[in-house]
Amino acid sequence: MAEVVLRDVVKNYGALPVVHAINLDIAHGEFVVLVGPSGCGKSTTLRMIAGLEDISDGTVQIGNRVVNDLPPRDRNISMVFQNYALYPHMTVAENLGFSLHIAKRSKAEIEKAVAEAAEILSLTPLLARKPGQLSGGQRQRVAMGRAIVRHPDVFLFDEPLSNLDAKLRTQMRVEIKRLHQKVGTTIIYVTHDQIEAMTLADRIVIMRDGHIVQIGTPLDVFERPVNSFVATFIGSPPMNLLPGTVSNGQVSLSDGTQIPLPPSAKVVDGQAVHFGVRADNIMPEGHSMPPTAHMAYVDMPVTLTEPLGTETLLFATLSGVEVQAKMLNPRPVAMGERLRFGIALDKCHLFDAATGATLRI
Ligand code: ADP
Ligand code: MG
Repeated sequence: MAEVVLRDVVKNYGALPVVHAINLDIAHGEFVVLVGPSGCGKSTTLRMIAGLEDISDGTVQIGNRVVNDLPPRDRNISMVFQNYALYPHMTVAENLGFSLHIAKRSKAEIEKAVAEAAEILSLTPLLARKPGQLSGGQRQRVAMGRAIVRHPDVFLFDEPLSNLDAKLRTQMRVEIKRLHQKVGTTIIYVTHDQIEAMTLADRIVIMRDGHIVQIGTPLDVFERPVNSFVATFIGSPPMNLLPGTVSNGQVSLSDGTQIPLPPSAKVVDGQAVHFGVRADNIMPEGHSMPPTAHMAYVDMPVTLTEPLGTETLLFATLSGVEVQAKMLNPRPVAMGERLRFGIALDKCHLFDAATGATLRI
């Protein structure tokens, strides 16, 4: 186990900066997920930590050592990629032990490490099989097992589940979380999938265009997004954003609809804003959570419904904007039916329209 510290870490490809002086402190044993849209610099950051990319500026520290000039093999890290390649002609046991074999460890040592890793990942009954005789999930477990046998200080995962189908992805997500609970090793995990980030991370690092936008626990970033980018990136369905203008303690939408400001919003009259509300906080009357202290009400026609069983997702229109709302204890809703929706203002957000920055403190 080790802490990992990034100080003003920069990556330029030629003249093109792709990672801009990022700072990150990861504690011993912490599970940190780097998440963000494709191309935002997640893999580049991970590869600089691994030593697979040069660091243009700044320092990367693993444990007590600055590792900028150490080759990957001397950093005591293990990396699991999306495109893990197992050796097809080797058994599971041989695949697991291969790196130790290369490192010229004793046969007894290798057998012990392989048996341990197999036990942790429930691969013991499969040790004699070849990769061709395994399911996709089992192969992925072998790929993780290869990382475990080396007892690294840090695991680095780069989208390890992206090639798996949805059901297997959900299963493997749980297995990775269990693995972390068992071995307690520091994990840095890259994904573009916000659900993976939310479910796995102790802390999430949200990246955009080579910058870190926000670092926090899953609940922090869900409940207190620093800007409208994080607000719409984290959470499913994405937070609804309604453009409007502040006047007299209200947000006026373009069609004249007035919604009171959420509590403790720091705004000035005339300011252009985006009023943010998640589907969980805008629900039709009679089909919602108990009202909170600060409620607002709007009428909206429903344009589409998605019944999900215990709740129905409603698509409705407010001031020309499509809004997604939730209906609890659902009943069938006719297309175009107008419903009165309650908005839990305490749970709502407000962002500056120009900068996207949150206006709630
Ligand atoms: P992510 O993993 O978040 O999808 P990457 O870290 O792979 O993003 O890439 C970040 C940016 O760096 C992208 O714009 C990508 O095109 C660019 N990039 C990655 N590798 C190279 C390279 N070898 N040469 C030039 N540009 C690169
Ligand atoms: Mg990537």
